[in-house]
Amino acid sequence: MAVLLTEIVTDVHHWNCTLFSFKTTREKSFRFRNGHFTMIGLPSDGKPLLRAYSFASANYEPELEFFSIKVPDGPLTAKLQLLEVGDKVLIGKKSNGTLVTDNMLPGKTLYLISTGTGLAPFLSIIKDPEIYDQFERIVLTHGVRCLSELAYSNYLENELPKDEFMGDIVRRKLVYYPSVTREPFRNQGRITDLVRTGKLFVDLKLPFPTLADDRFMICGGPSMLKEFCAILESKGFVEARNGRSGHFVIERAFIES
Ligand SMILES: Cc1cc2nc3c(=O)[nH]c(=O)nc-3n(C[C@H](O)[C@H](O)[C@H](O)COP(=O)(O)OP(=O)(O)OC[C@H]3O[C@@H](n4cnc5c(N)ncnc54)[C@H](O)[C@@H]3O)c2cc1C
Repeated sequence: MAVLLTEIVTDVHHWNCTLFSFKTTREKSFRFRNGHFTMIGLPSDGKPLLRAYSFASANYEPELEFFSIKVPDGPLTAKLQLLEVGDKVLIGKKSNGTLVTDNMLPGKTLYLISTGTGLAPFLSIIKDPEIYDQFERIVLTHGVRCLSELAYSNYLENELPKDEFMGDIVRRKLVYYPSVTREPFRNQGRITDLVRTGKLFVDLKLPFPTLADDRFMICGGPSMLKEFCAILESKGFVEARNGRSGHFVIERAFIES
């Protein structure tokens, strides 16, 4: 059985010169979990070059969506950023990932902490009705360097809250907190600093996190993940992994080569 599906690009949106999103057709029988990633690539004569990508679409949506970096000399993204409607994309049938609540202890507030394209898996999770049954409140943070990197901000602030299916629960339970490091913005600074100093919680008028009530899913670059884990572990939070229950889970948004 083929391990790769060939899907057709239905939409491409360039956010700026470093980020873009695209949608593809979706084979009806294709299944994945919200928060998961799969391998994607472009058709080639030889062995296709594949890279891990998180699903930015929810698992009940009719099309697949991906949110991508453009690495100028990147083996895959130098070509992927040239995608046009009608082009073919290879999509792995097998999905995987740690950004699920399976081993997470029950809690009241779920923080979805992302930087850069680390937002992608959370775009899928915040459209999952089950997550709103499990938590009283979901806080989605997106840390970027420049304003133009705040991809999906209009969708998160204006479109999703009006969505026919998800709008009501999103308006009641989802809080979106974008932050920018290198340009003036209403929320400024690195997410690790905003959490360490407590500014994030003060801004959101939320209590400081406790082991009893607060859970974290974190997706970003390797150095942000390392720093964020150290902050949480210094407060006694434990990572849920290998079947062990805990207070937080992490996923790398990319691997540093
Ligand atoms: C679990 C997982 C999920 C991923 N999900 C996504 C996703 O949803 N969207 C996405 O764009 N990428 C994602 N990536 C990264 C992706 O697999 C590729 O690395 C990326 O598409 C670049 O591919 P490339 O072949 O052009 O360059 P590569 O050779 O893969 O990377 C070259 C260099 O570019 C930098 N880089 C790579 N990816 C990123 C990134 N996303 N943000 C910032 N810098 C980066 C790193 O310094 C890397 O060393 C994910 C990676 C992992 C491990």
